[in-house]
Amino acid sequence: MNLAPFQRHLPRFSDLPLFWKLLVPFLVLILVVGAASTYLIVRELSSKARVEMNQELLRHSLDAGSRIHDRELYLLESVNFAANLHGMADAVKAKNAGEAARLLRSVLALKTDLHLLAVTLPDGRSLVEFVRATSDDAASEGSGTAWGDTPIVAGSLPGKGEQKIAGFVQLGDRKLLAIAAPICSGAKECASVGSALVGFDVGLIASEAGGDTSAEKKPTPAVSIYDEAGDLVAATGKAPTGRVPAATDLVRRTEQLAGREFFTLYSPLELQGRRAGMLAVSLPAESALRLARGAGLRLALVVFLGMAGVVAVGALLSRYVLAHIRSLVETSRSLGQGDLAARTPVVAGDELGELAEVLNQMAYELQASHETLEMRVEERTSEVRRLLQERTDFFAGISHELKTPIAVILNQARMLLSSIKSNRKRMDAERVEMILQSADQLLARVNDILEFARAESGRIEVTVSDVAVPELFDEIRPTIHGLASAGGHTVETELAIELPLVRADASRLKDVVMNLVDNAVKYTPTGGKIGVFVAAHNGKVELSITDSGPGIPAEVGNRIFEPFYRVPGTQTQRGQASSGLGLALTKRLVEAQGGKISFESRRGRGTTFTVSLRPSRTKARGRKT
Ligand code: ADP
Repeated sequence: MNLAPFQRHLPRFSDLPLFWKLLVPFLVLILVVGAASTYLIVRELSSKARVEMNQELLRHSLDAGSRIHDRELYLLESVNFAANLHGMADAVKAKNAGEAARLLRSVLALKTDLHLLAVTLPDGRSLVEFVRATSDDAASEGSGTAWGDTPIVAGSLPGKGEQKIAGFVQLGDRKLLAIAAPICSGAKECASVGSALVGFDVGLIASEAGGDTSAEKKPTPAVSIYDEAGDLVAATGKAPTGRVPAATDLVRRTEQLAGREFFTLYSPLELQGRRAGMLAVSLPAESALRLARGAGLRLALVVFLGMAGVVAVGALLSRYVLAHIRSLVETSRSLGQGDLAARTPVVAGDELGELAEVLNQMAYELQASHETLEMRVEERTSEVRRLLQERTDFFAGISHELKTPIAVILNQARMLLSSIKSNRKRMDAERVEMILQSADQLLARVNDILEFARAESGRIEVTVSDVAVPELFDEIRPTIHGLASAGGHTVETELAIELPLVRADASRLKDVVMNLVDNAVKYTPTGGKIGVFVAAHNGKVELSITDSGPGIPAEVGNRIFEPFYRVPGTQTQRGQASSGLGLALTKRLVEAQGGKISFESRRGRGTTFTVSLRPSRTKARGRKT
């Protein structure tokens, strides 16, 4: 079977709302369990009802059989009475109808409800016969009916069997249960002279057989009597319409009569020891099955109510759960849309409450980190603004720095020109010297700027190799001393005895030391102390340049290494130029060689800059300072 068209209209389980997803399995379970238990209970009750019905049918069948046999005995007694009446054989032999009638009347006087009483001549014709329309009517007398064609009478006639035979005979439009018996004339042996015949309406026998169950408040069984050929002879109630079974034993059938179901029990009917037909007793099935069907219906109702209950409880539960989930969803959506102050109410202590708490906690953290982030952005923005301002200040400053030597150069050049014109040689030489000095300063500043620009763009070039610091010191020591004494300072240098080689670019390292010494000299008032120390510490080689200058305020921190930064209020001692680029460049040079730079300072007590360098694996030759 192609189910595709139906499946197209059915929603997929995964697309069902949560409510139905939770409920459908329960409904299916209840339906399956309910249907199975209803089926089992109805089946159990039905089979019990069938057994009871069979017993009931058997009881009715036995009752009906015994009532028929009562009537058979009554007829037997009547026929014996009629056949053996004194003078009856003689009256028949003499064809004395009057005498025979008189004798039969005496029978009728005792057997008042017989419907047929007759005596026949040997040819089967009635010599005299009495017939009653109903048991209460007066009997009407007649004669000459040809009873010899009737099998039971034929079998009792002289020379044709001469037996007592019971069976059914037709009287007008009525069927009778009849017994025929030979009329014997002999004293010792029976010499049949004719036949005596008695009959009773089968319809009445059938209703007698049905019995009266009104007192028991049970349905009255329908009784049907069939002859040997299987034709219906008499029935009370509805007779089964199916073919009568030709069985010699009990047969039970379920039959439909006028749209109703009936159970029928067929049993063989024997009259005078001969099979005379069948007796059928029927009871309506619904009375027996009513209990089972009622139980089934009630159970189905309970299952249905159970399902409705589950749907109702499920609907209430899901409304409760969905109300909570909806507020969670709305809060999540608000958070997603940027409303970080959104919170969901925590109304229960169950898992949903826990979920709401977790969501709120998450929202708190999100809001807190968002605020921190905003603060950081604010900080960075003001930092950038400050740097931009400093850069602007620097350019203003550097312009000023450049302007002064340029102005001097121009001024001196003009004066040199007029002096050349007036030929004053000593003054000329001084002016040329000043021009050279200013031009040198200008060049140094320009070089600083170029060098820093190179460092900033990552184009700083270092060639790292194993460097012996003492040897490097030997080279720069005179310059250090020269610088210090020019500033009016005393110098102290100290190198440890055993120093490892360091990984550095010798030329850049010299620049670093000289820059730091230059700063120490530049910012320390005349008569100060400058120190240069080299020692191995914690597996590194440390170069320290100390001074007894003004120091650097603690709050400045590492900003000292930022380009263009100058500690506000710090003055160079001899009007040297200050660009704020020296330490920024020095830091980049140190780091490019794999080292680190730091400083310690106390206001008014001087400053110590320390450069820490990686030692080489190669061992250095020892030397003393
Ligand atoms: P510059 O010396 O050209 O101004 P630097 O980058 O070398 O630039 O120094 C930055 C600032 O640090 C200086 O302007 C000065 O205020 C301060 N500074 C540097 N070295 C010292 C020191 N030895 N003692 C006191 N202040 C110093």
